[in-house]
Amino acid sequence: MDKNIAVIRGDGIGPEIVEQALNVLDKVAELYGHTFTYTDVDMGGCAIDKWGDPLPERELQKCLASHSVLLGAVGGPKWNDVPGAMRPEKGLLRLRAAMGVYSNNRPAKIWPQLADASPLKKSIVDQGIDFIIVRELIGGIYFGEHKTEGDTATDVLKYSESEIERIGRIGFETAQKRSKKLCSVEKSNVLDSSRLWKKVMHRLAKEYPDVELTDMLVDNCAMQIVKDPAQFDVVVTENMFGDILSDEASQITGSIGMIPSSSLGATTCGLYEPIHGSAPDIAGKDLANPVGTILSAAMMLRFSFDMPREADAIENAVSAYLDAGYRTADIMSQGMTQVGCRQCGQLIIDNLRKE
Ligand code: NAD
Repeated sequence: MDKNIAVIRGDGIGPEIVEQALNVLDKVAELYGHTFTYTDVDMGGCAIDKWGDPLPERELQKCLASHSVLLGAVGGPKWNDVPGAMRPEKGLLRLRAAMGVYSNNRPAKIWPQLADASPLKKSIVDQGIDFIIVRELIGGIYFGEHKTEGDTATDVLKYSESEIERIGRIGFETAQKRSKKLCSVEKSNVLDSSRLWKKVMHRLAKEYPDVELTDMLVDNCAMQIVKDPAQFDVVVTENMFGDILSDEASQITGSIGMIPSSSLGATTCGLYEPIHGSAPDIAGKDLANPVGTILSAAMMLRFSFDMPREADAIENAVSAYLDAGYRTADIMSQGMTQVGCRQCGQLIIDNLRKE
């Protein structure tokens, strides 16, 4: 199959981790007889420096014309003081909105080889950590009006029933494919938008009688994720809650550097990115863990290109790399062999086999 992939390397560690993911994709293409063509797209701080805009229209169009988009990360201290509308993250928000990718899927799964890397007690880790956060991605407070007047700042959090319903359906359908348990997370004791969220979820629940729906307040959920993560299977929540909870969930699996994500809307053209940021503290030092980006590329093959065997091959290669005792600095533990970003990518390629 021929696929055109828009590639956003971005800022900080972005170029390093994306390079490794592209090397892995090249190996998959060679093994399975596919052709992946990469179109470079400038987005984020690098685009501000080059074009004076975090996502110029011409660059956005390259993404919209692709079969899918692979992104490293954007942002960094260099652009902290630029005005709001020109910040690197604005490019990302604009891209997500233009692609219409309202459903962000973030797995929190512990690799058995990394049980020691979790900050949680062994007795909790042994119960198992394997859940998915389905996060609404193009609504809520990140997309409401933002304004500062004098000494007062305002950010608007707004959701319509239809926005809640379409992400709610993804939550129920994801639960149907797993253990049929869906936890809807909101703050309905305080927020009107959360009360609407809860009402829509319960209306939808009647259409999915095979799925058991539970409600949880977001503050309780933050606590339960560290206390008893095994209780969760599929969590559905709004944009900002999902952003925060998925970072928390990633850390209990060992490192934020291991977790991929997919973002999809009405078409198969998706946006695939690790859940972490541009990690300016380790950029350019060959220290970054590229696994989250490599697994994001695997998700692209699975969800957008209908290549499940190829996706399995990448995931198995990551597992074999961990089995062999190699670890990047973020998940390093006693008795393991520390590797850098480039070597990690190469070792995963060395373990890639046609399934
Ligand atoms: P971050 O995720 O970049 O880093 C948090 C911590 O995790 C750091 O200690 C970092 O070294 C570590 N880390 C992150 N990814 C890693 C990896 N692959 N391997 C090893 N360690 C890793 O979050 P931050 O420091 O809050 O944000 C830095 C910049 O990234 C900010 O400008 C922020 O706005 C931006 N950001 C971008 C995205 C995105 O592009 N999707 C997401 C979040 C943050």
